[in-house]
Amino acid sequence: MFVMAAQQLGYRVTVLDPAVDSPAGRTADDFICADYADQPALEKLGTQCAAITTEFENIPAQSLRKLAKSCVVSPDAYSVSIAQNRITEKQFLVTNGFTVAPFAVIQQQDVIATQDVADLLPGILKVSQFGYDGKGQMAVASEAELIAAYAQLNHSICVLEKFMPLKSELSVVVARGNDGELKTFPVSENQHVNGILDISIVPARISPEFAEQVQGTACKIAEKLDYQGVLCVEFFVLQNNELLINEIAPRPHNSGHYSIDACITSQFEQQVRALCGLPLGATTQHSAAVMVNLLGDLWQNGEPDWNLVLQNPSAKLHLYGKTEARPGRKMGHYTVLTTDINAALQQALAVKKQLEQKLIRNP
Ligand code: ADP
Ligand code: MG
Repeated sequence: MFVMAAQQLGYRVTVLDPAVDSPAGRTADDFICADYADQPALEKLGTQCAAITTEFENIPAQSLRKLAKSCVVSPDAYSVSIAQNRITEKQFLVTNGFTVAPFAVIQQQDVIATQDVADLLPGILKVSQFGYDGKGQMAVASEAELIAAYAQLNHSICVLEKFMPLKSELSVVVARGNDGELKTFPVSENQHVNGILDISIVPARISPEFAEQVQGTACKIAEKLDYQGVLCVEFFVLQNNELLINEIAPRPHNSGHYSIDACITSQFEQQVRALCGLPLGATTQHSAAVMVNLLGDLWQNGEPDWNLVLQNPSAKLHLYGKTEARPGRKMGHYTVLTTDINAALQQALAVKKQLEQKLIRNP
């Protein structure tokens, strides 16, 4: 989606991706299929590009540092290295005065017994690196379950986070230009299923004051990181309306996909603008939007019947062109646009129900 936004603005794009069937690689003007740490591949990328960005946080920071010697790289290795590790991420947030869920670092099995983890149970054990879409996470209710889960996660360095009773989850995409200009997108209200984003409702059904607080917090985080590019901040809202930071992503975010169809500037165009030193675009939302993810589970009887989405003339379908549909894998999304958020939600859920019922009818 970044590639298409860059091409729309007249740029030619090279993609580096280890996946042979990379959808971004197919769309780009040039595709280097190689590991993110492959030195000759990085050299080629650095030689033929003027500016480099990422849509994926698990690029080795060292690779970004190397590229920064020959071209503009944003976000920079520092921001990415903080966001790609749950421990450095939480330490950065806490040090800078932001509130996160209570947590502890779990490094060694025999340390669990000596660590005071009782206050963090029930909790969620999360691998510190490379987890996404709820992967590398296990709910644990007791010390015994914690020890078992830690073994199941291959004794990788983890964080144990207290399970928080959530009122809602919110997120904000913020862009910061190289002159420090900040522009936030409207706040998304996100519903997850099994740790995977299911639905984003935008604007979030919160007061304008609360939305401003959420956006302001995202801006402060971008400033503390001296961030350049597009950053997403995920929030937990507790029952008493207390706001916690869940995590940050140094890239456009699934919960910001609604902006492609519902805002004057999409999060991907904003990423192009921030990277290329262009003025940031207006983030004004022109339609209420509900985005629904399409996971690989829907493909269990083959390609879903897209007429079920397209028969709603206000639904915009996006398919990513991934060749293999695995359960839980994000294959696409649709966004329903209306003037009223409740109507958008109702219509989006009606389409979702039809897609799911079709699976049940034809098992
Ligand atoms: P990922 O990197 O996979 O997005 P997250 O840490 O954001 O991982 O967790 C995914 C989802 O799991 C969250 O959006 C939330 O719904 C749920 N979750 C994660 N941590 C907690 C927690 N401490 N308390 C309650 N729910 C949580
Ligand atoms: Mg998350």
